[in-house]
Amino acid sequence: MSDRYLQFTSSPLGRQISKRLGLPQPTPLRRHRPGDPVVSGPVLTGAAAGSRLGASVAATLKDVHAQVHDVRTDGARYAGLVFDASGVHSSTDLRQVYEFFASTIRQVDRCGRVVVLAAPPEEAADPREQVARRALEGFTRSVGKELKRGATVQLVYVSEGAEGALDSTLRFLLSAKSAYVSGQVVRIGPAEVPEVDQAQPLRDKVALVTGASRGIGEAIAETLARDGAHVVCLDVPAQGGDLTRVANSIGGSTLQLDITAQDAPQRILEHFTERHGGIDVVVHNAGITRDKTLGRMTEQQWDAVIAVNLTSQERINEALLAEGSPLRPGGRIIGVASISGIAGNVGQTNYATSKAGVIGLVQGTAPVAAARGATVNAVAPGFIETKMTAAVPLFVREAGRRMNSMSQGGLPVDVAETIAWFAGPASAGVNGNVVRVCGQSLLGA
Ligand code: NAD
Repeated sequence: MSDRYLQFTSSPLGRQISKRLGLPQPTPLRRHRPGDPVVSGPVLTGAAAGSRLGASVAATLKDVHAQVHDVRTDGARYAGLVFDASGVHSSTDLRQVYEFFASTIRQVDRCGRVVVLAAPPEEAADPREQVARRALEGFTRSVGKELKRGATVQLVYVSEGAEGALDSTLRFLLSAKSAYVSGQVVRIGPAEVPEVDQAQPLRDKVALVTGASRGIGEAIAETLARDGAHVVCLDVPAQGGDLTRVANSIGGSTLQLDITAQDAPQRILEHFTERHGGIDVVVHNAGITRDKTLGRMTEQQWDAVIAVNLTSQERINEALLAEGSPLRPGGRIIGVASISGIAGNVGQTNYATSKAGVIGLVQGTAPVAAARGATVNAVAPGFIETKMTAAVPLFVREAGRRMNSMSQGGLPVDVAETIAWFAGPASAGVNGNVVRVCGQSLLGA
């Protein structure tokens, strides 16, 4: 599971050799450790004329005790660049974005963060405004491909009236928690955001994580528990031993269940109603692959993947969003898609169908969830170092690891941190998003 190449190029000799041969030079990514500040150095801010998000940005940066600069200093290294482009109304206004970044981008520090804020294209008053706002996607994605040394860039579209709902997203995107997230577009809508304890945002919350006995599910359970949640770890009975180990290590509890069972939604709801009096966070992480090219794929291989990765989640969500369900106000439903569901993949018609379906599930369910004060979002992981990917043939594995802007695979914790951001009470305005955790993989949009 370990990335020997990354270890090699992190040594002085390996760095020299890989540089000489023109090979990729992945930077070991900075990841969050308890007690770390949100930003590790000065943040430079800028704005297009007439922008409206300055006060929100300033409030977050003040709260995280960031050293804020609003004028560039020669020779400074910036841990973050935040540019408010919400005042951009036409393609000629984009010049202001160019001017800010062309003069500062080379001052972004190792594992630095670049965030561009804008108004959503779909809320534009006229086509010219829509064009300019949409154009920022091409800009940020290209910046992501140019940034080196583990730095990331994101574009955040903030709806009119959502200025007060930006904080949790800005914190996440500026912090080391978003180490393997880059080139993403996030949308924030208006929402009532409660006061939260930043150290334990999920205190008093009860969460369900499916497929929690190992891999990404284990990391999700650990991360939600770190944030204060009581986590109910669910997996199939055959995984009972590992499931108990994970639950015990985080002070959680277990629920042994096959999510494809006919009565699974009902049993889940009963479990939470009886033991916990409600449920706050549901993470649909359990997933399987049964790879074969389409002409060789058996009915069983098709059916098993659709049943575990998609139909079971649909059924559980329907039960959760039905009248009288134990899902509490402010509920969070989080799916795990995959970049295969975005780009497609050889041998994965079943898997990619199921994962694209998870994206459809997010988009279709978000308005229903919003009506109950809940949210639905998903992560779409790229190449993550797990047992699943360790079993992939060497050549394909190496391609998966290197074909992204970070030239390395992500870790389960990278997916987990993104899920924890969705799960937080302060992310009430984050609904209907699919965020890739793929180091800006070359595959897909
Ligand atoms: P994994 O195989 O290590 O873990 C999946 C877990 O789900 C296992 O514990 C398994 O027992 C459980 N599970 C399977 N079927 C179940 C069922 N019917 N009922 C209950 N539990 C069931 O996989 P992983 O690599 O940790 O992946 C976790 C999720 O992330 C999956 O949805 C996967 O598709 C997705 N994903 C992984 C990667 C990657 O690179 N590893 C990339 C993209 C997406």
